[in-house]
Amino acid sequence: MKPALTLYLAAPRGFCAGVDRAVKIVEMSLEKWGAPVYVRHEIVHNKFVVDTLAAKGAVFVEELDECPVDRPVIFSAHGVPKTVPAEAERRNMIYVDATCPLVSKVHLEAERHAEEGLQIIMIGHRGHPEVIGTMGQLPEGEVLLIETAADVATLEVRDPDKLAWITQTTLSVDDTAEVVAALQARFPSLVGPGKDDICYATTNRQAAVKILAEKIEALLVIGAPNSSNSKRLVEVGRNAGCAVSHLVERASEIKWDALEGITRVGLTAGASAPEVLVDEVIEAFRDRYDLTVELVETAKERIEFKTPRIFRHDT
Ligand code: SF4
Repeated sequence: MKPALTLYLAAPRGFCAGVDRAVKIVEMSLEKWGAPVYVRHEIVHNKFVVDTLAAKGAVFVEELDECPVDRPVIFSAHGVPKTVPAEAERRNMIYVDATCPLVSKVHLEAERHAEEGLQIIMIGHRGHPEVIGTMGQLPEGEVLLIETAADVATLEVRDPDKLAWITQTTLSVDDTAEVVAALQARFPSLVGPGKDDICYATTNRQAAVKILAEKIEALLVIGAPNSSNSKRLVEVGRNAGCAVSHLVERASEIKWDALEGITRVGLTAGASAPEVLVDEVIEAFRDRYDLTVELVETAKERIEFKTPRIFRHDT
């Protein structure tokens, strides 16, 4: 007899509108120009998605100079510094920008602040491609990066009365609120977005995990180790009291020993993890347990982003 277990399935979970659009852009590029098409950086941070597109003829590289000039190149959903499209243009390459519109919105915000003579403080994770892309919208030194509330005290600014703040879109909502409070305490005239720049998908998935945490003894988040929003979901689970919160890329990574004696498990997926991986995990549970699946829906998402014009004019 299999032991009984209830799997509480978070909704919303998995693919967001920005990821969906970026994946479609690669697929449509392959249709339009044939293989190979080049993609600068993983189109979204998910190995399964990248491998699937690679099997169809997408070639993933880290830098533009790894792409031949006579093949199209796509920029990933995370966004790129301004120098990247400028270089593609200089080399006369066809390029398609798959930057999520919500990341582009932050780019525009940064530019607008800079035009108003404000120096920008970005809250984000050093080295993340989105942060590199956003900081690269302006000349070096115009955007200062901080990661935690503790960084605020040591921040050296040009003029404390001429500052604005922006954020990475995939941060922890709660941690970011702390950093913003520390910034506002030190720089009272600081200008910023209403609340933060964290996107709807990140916000909704974190809120769903908080509700889920009230019901469960363990949480599994399907996502890649380099996926910022997926890692934040694990932290949100732990902070909400779910000590056994694990990130797994595939069902094969589940640590079944850690679930010994547990009967209520929560399951969610980061914004770059496709639903097929959720199904795979559910099936792995079904193999081992007398399984009940319960949906915990905390919001409905209806957001969709249009693909670039270059594909819409094709018909
Ligand atoms: S997680 Fe948010 S910012 Fe990132 S691609 Fe999805 S919608 Fe866009």
